[in-house]
Amino acid sequence: MASKRIPLVAGNWKMNFNHLEATYFVQKLVWLLRDAHFDFKRCEVALFPSFTSLRSVQVFVEADKLRINYGAQSVSVTNQGAFTGDVSADMLASLGCTYVIVGHSERRKYHPEDDANIVDQVRAVLAAGMQPILCVGESFEERRQGIELDFAVGQVHDVTRDLNTDEAAKLIVAYEPVWAIGTGMVATPQTAQEAANAIRDDLRSTFDGHVADTVRILYGGSVTSKNAAELISQPDVDGFLIGGASLNAEELTKIARLT
Ligand code: PGA
Repeated sequence: MASKRIPLVAGNWKMNFNHLEATYFVQKLVWLLRDAHFDFKRCEVALFPSFTSLRSVQVFVEADKLRINYGAQSVSVTNQGAFTGDVSADMLASLGCTYVIVGHSERRKYHPEDDANIVDQVRAVLAAGMQPILCVGESFEERRQGIELDFAVGQVHDVTRDLNTDEAAKLIVAYEPVWAIGTGMVATPQTAQEAANAIRDDLRSTFDGHVADTVRILYGGSVTSKNAAELISQPDVDGFLIGGASLNAEELTKIARLT
């Protein structure tokens, strides 16, 4: 990587693992990383359990002073009140979350999360002192039409146009083409680089060089230990958001070591 951005390997567990399984997984992952003399200063590892497992992960991480970060997969746009079933950013911050995934394509598809809602989630996360991981990426149809870069950059822009420079510098972007998520059809390193570079260029023109050089841009979509090394060798790819492969501690360790 051209800059000093520390790569991030983020495991998005989606709706998998209850709190007992989550605790077991964290123990195993830490053991594997320690055994591999993993250097947490060189690469950051973060896990994204479901809401019900966050407290268990927090207790375990704090008790052992682990150097693993964690966060939530979504957040409410309001902070308190009569919103049955919602979880606020302050609640997540009080559980020690560092990050919150915002705008994952599965949330955009299965829940009414439109651009306005996603901007509000980003604001709520920032206001609570955490960092949003904003997911963007085109569907197969947009790629077929040749508008994939405009589409992904546009999704970033829809959020960043409401942010000031300090807020934008705290953003993490995950470029996750929808056609690559959970399909085994990983983007080529060139495709990932092209999109990450277009997003970084847009950050540079909307804000400044500091924001463009600070914001980490992850790639997500069928990442495994077989394709991670080539993807991370791209100058604008700063790590991964990993679904399926993050459910296997050995595989996640391998990816982190390659990153
Ligand atoms: P996948 O999911 O690694 O299973 O493709 C990635 C994601 O949805 O974040």
